[in-house]
Amino acid sequence: MTVRVRFAPSPTGYLHVGGVRTALYSWLWARRHGGSFVLRIEDTDAKRSTPENEQVILDAMRWLGLDWDEGPDVGGDHGPYRQTERMALYREYAEKLIAAGKAYRCYATSEEIQAQRAAFEAEHGNKGFRFRSPWRDRTDGDPSQPHSVRFKTPADGVMGWNDVLRGPIEVANKEQQDFVLLRPNGLPLYNFGCFVDDLTMKITLVVRGDDHIVNTPQQLLLYQAMDAEPPRFAHLPMVLGPDGKKLSKRHAAVSVLEYRDLGYVPDGLLNYLARLGWSHGDQEIFTRDELIALFDWDHVGKTAGRYDLKKLEHVQGHHLRAHTDARLAELVAPFLGARGITVPADDPRLVRAIGPVKLRATTLADLAEGLDYFFREDESLEYDPKGRKKFMGPDQAVTLEKLAELAEQATPFDAATLEGLIGAWVEESGIKMKLVAQPARVALTGRTASPGLYETMELLGRETTLRRLRRGAELARTPAE
Ligand code: GLU
Repeated sequence: MTVRVRFAPSPTGYLHVGGVRTALYSWLWARRHGGSFVLRIEDTDAKRSTPENEQVILDAMRWLGLDWDEGPDVGGDHGPYRQTERMALYREYAEKLIAAGKAYRCYATSEEIQAQRAAFEAEHGNKGFRFRSPWRDRTDGDPSQPHSVRFKTPADGVMGWNDVLRGPIEVANKEQQDFVLLRPNGLPLYNFGCFVDDLTMKITLVVRGDDHIVNTPQQLLLYQAMDAEPPRFAHLPMVLGPDGKKLSKRHAAVSVLEYRDLGYVPDGLLNYLARLGWSHGDQEIFTRDELIALFDWDHVGKTAGRYDLKKLEHVQGHHLRAHTDARLAELVAPFLGARGITVPADDPRLVRAIGPVKLRATTLADLAEGLDYFFREDESLEYDPKGRKKFMGPDQAVTLEKLAELAEQATPFDAATLEGLIGAWVEESGIKMKLVAQPARVALTGRTASPGLYETMELLGRETTLRRLRRGAELARTPAE
């Protein structure tokens, strides 16, 4: 059987990283088996679902490179792929169930339901109420009057399944009330919409969070009522924060697009999320192709993974540095732009500067920060106040002027020549290298940390190096406040 899996987000907000992990495992499974990955938008909550939210989900999925074979924008043989466009189908299936005696029209008003609830609670407390509709066995209703459609839940027996991750799960049917399939306004309830969609979209495996375990028996009862073979189910444990509570904004960024805007690369985030709940020996770093080749359900943990920002950053930094410098130049350009720096992505100086700078960077934003002073006009170069105070006092003015003099003589203007000239002078004059390198670094970059001094000079080029050293000498003579 061809593998068909789906991701079914509700467009009621941003795409949460926990949701992405569900989407990722489904996608990996589909890609591993040459199957289909379906994107279905569950937008029946009219108040909270918006086209903007749907767009955010699509943008996030695209940025991550989790491509879908069928979905609202690309179509497919089992569409439409937005629930609000499938109303006729829900009606059709509700009628089929009514005709088969498996569902019925219920004309009970909310007042009647409330009254029954109040009577139950007065006797038994506020737990365990299940509405018993007087319409379950009546056939004298008038279908032109407002009514909901309810499922006729079998009074006895159990419904169970062998969960791919949890093993056998069983729930007694008497635990379920005659649940609503369609509201009086024709909107399907989640369990019914999900069932009709998974059935008609020929889904073979449903992957979702374990908060949906409570829904699965009702969905399975519907398959049974239709004599249809259900898909398999894999219920994933929640992603937790470091404190063991459900991962939320209090712990870390949780919206995928926030990671994009922070300068993460998609493979870093995906690799981390894949490992948060799945393992392959001790391996931490995976390419996308490796994940596709290796992902399996046997190694998905049954307990919730805790989000660990340090680990995420470690994995992320690794994937950032795995890009070629030319590709990083393209990726970092918008982040430089956000800092007011415009450099063409193919500027050879940019590509060369990336080599040493990326060694200290975790994200594209870090990379832009580390590249900043190479491309900034001298006038807007900012000096770290502590560095300036510590390393650029009046005593250093002469050193900086001497460095400018030596740098002017360097031909060619490259790291080796500069090292030869400056190194010889340092040795001859007996001055401590630290007292030369740190003032020079602050004068050239504004900072106390940068790639090697000579490499930095070479990358800045002769003109900028001389200007900044001389400007540094002037600043050194003007005491910092
Ligand atoms: N729209 C549901 C959600 O976002 C989908 C649940 C499912 O995958 O069945 O939680």
